[in-house]
Amino acid sequence: MTGVSELVVDAILAAARVAARVCVRVQGESTLSGVPESKTGDEPVTIADYAAQAILLHTIARVAPTHSILAEESSAHLRGQGEATRLRVRDLVADALGESLSFDAVCAHIDHAGTDAGHAWAIDPIDGTRGFIRRDQYCVAVALLHRGAPVLSVLACPNLAHDPASPTGPRGVLFHAIRGQGAFAAPLEGGAPRRIHVRDVTDPSAMRILASVETAHGDPALIDRVVRELHLGGLVRMDSQVKYGALARGDGEIYVRPRNRPDRRENVWDHAPGVLLVEEAGGKATDIDGKPLDFATGRKMLNNRGIVVSHGPAHAKLLEALKTAEGD
Ligand code: AMP
Ligand code: MG
Repeated sequence: MTGVSELVVDAILAAARVAARVCVRVQGESTLSGVPESKTGDEPVTIADYAAQAILLHTIARVAPTHSILAEESSAHLRGQGEATRLRVRDLVADALGESLSFDAVCAHIDHAGTDAGHAWAIDPIDGTRGFIRRDQYCVAVALLHRGAPVLSVLACPNLAHDPASPTGPRGVLFHAIRGQGAFAAPLEGGAPRRIHVRDVTDPSAMRILASVETAHGDPALIDRVVRELHLGGLVRMDSQVKYGALARGDGEIYVRPRNRPDRRENVWDHAPGVLLVEEAGGKATDIDGKPLDFATGRKMLNNRGIVVSHGPAHAKLLEALKTAEGD
């Protein structure tokens, strides 16, 4: 037993669908209008990030009010934006929830937090905001951690094709995983979840490696060395934890996230949702030194260096190749 109730699973899946719909609406606007300035030089944020977080936490406050929260956004930066931006976020959330809400009530949802540290929700309302702004891949990412271990995860991926063989066909995939019960995918617009599994492939030349689009988020030269060393079949660049979803359903076999700066630590919400999905689909995730991933150190993964994800058979060879490539 995972201890995750069906009510919580259904509620968070429904909330992720609503949050994703708001993202699609904002992304469809011709100018992505109302995008506030970046929080810092290198971390963009949009009105959709705030609206999606408010929607997710509105649901969590209802179904699990005591659980603590590790979420990417807070209302502080939004409160400093112009009135048009603030009211636009309020209206997006009010429309999506079908409730009349004040701006302060929306901020209260964004900042909701419980005190039960044994249960924590890791939330990235838009993972891959740069991809979102480019109109490429992004996802709404949520994981429930029980004593630091992910037990439930959801990735809503509005721009991912239903069928990888038809990249221009219907889009929008809702992934979820429950510890011990498997990994699943459903059409984002609705429909029954089906079980997914990593692809069963052992020939390295048939394996594809997934990596960030943003070169600043990784180390493209290191990835190229690994591709050559292992004679891998292909490289696919994709934003956000959509990479974990793609790997879990067999659209790729390897995802390497090298640490590009010695002081860089990964955010827990950038990996906990995807890692549970891949593990429940039969895959494996460690850090670049082969250490288990530790999600119990707060917002940042302080005990790990980089991330290495795979469908399994190549994991040990991959870690070896990374060690060699890093030493070059
Ligand atoms: P991806 O699209 O896989 O590169 O992942 C997007 C995530 O990268 C964002 O959610 C950020 O948290 C994270 N990120 C931002 N800057 C960096 C950086 N310099 N190195 C690694 N990751 C970063
Ligand atoms: Mg992110």
